[in-house]
Amino acid sequence: MSIMDNAIELGARIRKKEIKIEEAVRVSLDRIQSLDGDYNCFISVEADYALERARMLQSKLGKRESNNPLFGVPISVKDNICVRGLGTTCGSKMLKDFVPCYSATAVDKLEDAGMVILGKTNMDEFAMGNSTENSFFGVTRNPWDKTKVAGGSSGGAAASVALGFNSVSLGSDTGGSVRQPAAFCGVVGIKPTYGRVSRNGLIAYASSLDQIGTFGNNVKDAAALLEVVSGYDEKDSTTYNGKRIDLQDAFSGDVNGMRVAFPVDLMEGNADADTIRSIENVVNILEKNGVTVDRISIGMKEYVLPTYYIIACAEASSNLERYDGVKYGYRSNNYENLHQMYRNTRTEGFGAEVKRRIMLGSFVLSAGYYDAYYLKALKAKSVIRIRLNELLSKYDGIISPVTPKTAFPVGKYTDNYVDSYNEDIFTVWANLAGIPAMSVPCGTGNEGMPIGVQIISAAYDESKMIKLGLAIEREIGKLSFENEKGDKADE
Ligand code: GLN
Repeated sequence: MSIMDNAIELGARIRKKEIKIEEAVRVSLDRIQSLDGDYNCFISVEADYALERARMLQSKLGKRESNNPLFGVPISVKDNICVRGLGTTCGSKMLKDFVPCYSATAVDKLEDAGMVILGKTNMDEFAMGNSTENSFFGVTRNPWDKTKVAGGSSGGAAASVALGFNSVSLGSDTGGSVRQPAAFCGVVGIKPTYGRVSRNGLIAYASSLDQIGTFGNNVKDAAALLEVVSGYDEKDSTTYNGKRIDLQDAFSGDVNGMRVAFPVDLMEGNADADTIRSIENVVNILEKNGVTVDRISIGMKEYVLPTYYIIACAEASSNLERYDGVKYGYRSNNYENLHQMYRNTRTEGFGAEVKRRIMLGSFVLSAGYYDAYYLKALKAKSVIRIRLNELLSKYDGIISPVTPKTAFPVGKYTDNYVDSYNEDIFTVWANLAGIPAMSVPCGTGNEGMPIGVQIISAAYDESKMIKLGLAIEREIGKLSFENEKGDKADE
């Protein structure tokens, strides 16, 4: 048992003064120092920043501002989320020396709640990818098996939680980047409704799909962190000004009488036998707890990935125009005129996957192809959204696997990266429809690697999906590679 297994319990012990905040931070820092050389979860560790904050916060204990359940709890932040004064690289050479002069709203909120930022976690460059192999700072390894990827793009965040570096972490999810690495590393990941968390200070990949999400070792921790960072923000006009998530209702875990749709056609041909077996087991668990699970056919599965990749790349090509070597970020030394400066800056500053997407995005937006690709993708997106909303008007949730298979070996897609896009078949739906989705560990498969179940609920109805997630977690328990592999060092 490590104090990093449970954020809410750690917060309670800090408030009872059983543990000093500084001690908790030192547990994190020591563990990172001894193990992160092998896994590469962090791009930067900010030991002095964290220790100084820990001491400052300790003096506030007992005052009103220390009421948050996560007060004093150490956390890491994905390196595409700005923290004032700390390097924020987005996993790219383009921003390797970028130090923002402001913090993301989500970061302000977690600091206001008294959490302690330990450092910034590794990710696929500009959040493009699902393996954290596209990082300028090297690949993040899977805590369960170092020869495998941790998933991505928030691979560093997911692995940092699985390794006990911190009990919770902040990531971002444009097409699965919180849920997929959570599934690959055996932890919980939540992508909330689009608009639940402010995107102010989140470096844009595809603005209509991007959303900050949370990781935890268990459902309640990930949900409690979501509660901390969510809320209306005048700096992001897409944020939601309505009801907060009803955590009390969600944490009751009473799912009796709920109705869930299970799209079996989506699994066929897309998920391997171990994954299907684990999801069928989840269906049994839900039914045992009084949930009605209807096997349905969702349709449209051949359209979701092209729709997602066309829209995501189109928006990325436009968002990444700002990296031109003029205002901030990397600038090539090698140029004789302005055009050469732009060209060489972007050639040298971006990695291969980012360039591929900028080219694809520029192509689908070009005058000759706009109608054939981009406009068509927007129409397909509407159809997908309508279909999901129709299902969610009848059901409390939709369940599916998070990924087709367990974590793949490092290097598997090096020669044909486009094939890796198929890994996102289950996750991109929720982003296209702007609805919440989460990943909960539900078993192990191939070579003892973890499997996740995805639960989707209607927009702003996160409490339903959290409730279902808790019911599943209660039966399955925490997956732990300590038991499976015996190599998680004890405190
Ligand atoms: N794998 C997807 C992509 O590369 C999703 C990434 C994300 O959610 N940031 O676009």
